[in-house]
Amino acid sequence: MAEILLTAGDGIGPEIMEQAKRILHCFAKDIAFTLTERLIGGAGIDAAGSPFPTDTQKAAAHADAVLFGAVGGPKWDNLPLADRPEKGILGIRKALGLYANLRPTILWPQLTTFSPLKQERIAGVDLLIMRELTGDIYFGEPRGIRTENGQRIAHNTMVYSEEEIRRIAIAGFEAARKRRKKLCSVDKSNVLETMRFWREIVTDIHKDYPDVTLEHMYVDHAAMQIILRPAAFDVMLTPNMFGDILSDEAAVLAGSLGLLPSASIGGKSALYEPIHGSAPDIAGQGLANPIGMILCVGMMLGHSFNKPAWEQAIRAAVGDVLDQGLRTADIMSDGMQRATTDQMGSAIETALRKRLG
Ligand code: NAD
Repeated sequence: MAEILLTAGDGIGPEIMEQAKRILHCFAKDIAFTLTERLIGGAGIDAAGSPFPTDTQKAAAHADAVLFGAVGGPKWDNLPLADRPEKGILGIRKALGLYANLRPTILWPQLTTFSPLKQERIAGVDLLIMRELTGDIYFGEPRGIRTENGQRIAHNTMVYSEEEIRRIAIAGFEAARKRRKKLCSVDKSNVLETMRFWREIVTDIHKDYPDVTLEHMYVDHAAMQIILRPAAFDVMLTPNMFGDILSDEAAVLAGSLGLLPSASIGGKSALYEPIHGSAPDIAGQGLANPIGMILCVGMMLGHSFNKPAWEQAIRAAVGDVLDQGLRTADIMSDGMQRATTDQMGSAIETALRKRLG
């Protein structure tokens, strides 16, 4: 029996999680699973005094997969950094040992007018950014601000061990092998020793993946190419900081934050979360787009449960509903039919059940 942990979190988190549950229940006759719901983020702080309460930690340790909503909101903005809701997501990622973040940029032909790029430029975009999550300048030591000769000097350190690069490179090549067999590794090896090391290790791992085409690209060039020819990319492999920036740039192409899922993998169990935050400005009003969260269920079934056909079925059901003209507020346009969060989730469930037969 698979254990799935649901951590809805704050703001729109609980509303979109309800829609994810609907979609999961469509598969109840095909896989045996239990759903465990636990608090995280601000909800955890309010109920248990911690953004990652002990109860949630215990459930995460047992879970085969975690579906995560979003955390944070103005209510907790004045807490010290160490006690804020965001510590919930950092805590659970660390507890699960997740080292790779996967962000697909999915472009819906029905929604191209929402993309900031011209239609001909985004046609055929299907990009997966694989970002390293545990190393790089975000975690490197030494770090801090010191005073020397009466002057304050700030410093951070970009560090990668060979093992950290190897495991993410292998994950990148494996992902490319299941897709269009192209991997673009992003670095800044013309300036940084750490990045020259990154390139050396990625090139070495490539020997085990002769069927995958490897291209190396400097990060500044990659930032331009995501705008100029996004459809040319298949899997983009990035260190932590460059991936942080490039994955947000790529997300904008889709047209709304509410459309995109992500997965963090590496440990015994993976975590799936939409790329957006808790959107406190629209919480509780039925305005949230549940598609990103619903596609997380698809990624979970595809990756954690090895059922890529079900992931495809969920994607196709979302496409069916967009074809019907149903739109949440963030993707509403003339001639379309306005739907609440719940109506959108319900329509996708109906389309999915039809496809599953
Ligand atoms: P946000 O992603 O929550 O919202 C940005 C804008 O996008 C808002 O106008 C919001 O209404 C809209 N939006 C987001 N998701 C949407 C959806 N599903 N449907 C329709 N519209 C949607 O980012 P923010 O406003 O910068 O942050 C709000 C809170 O979320 C903060 O407390 C922040 O720290 C937190 N946050 C959490 C995560 C996470 O849990 N992983 C990520 C980012 C931000």
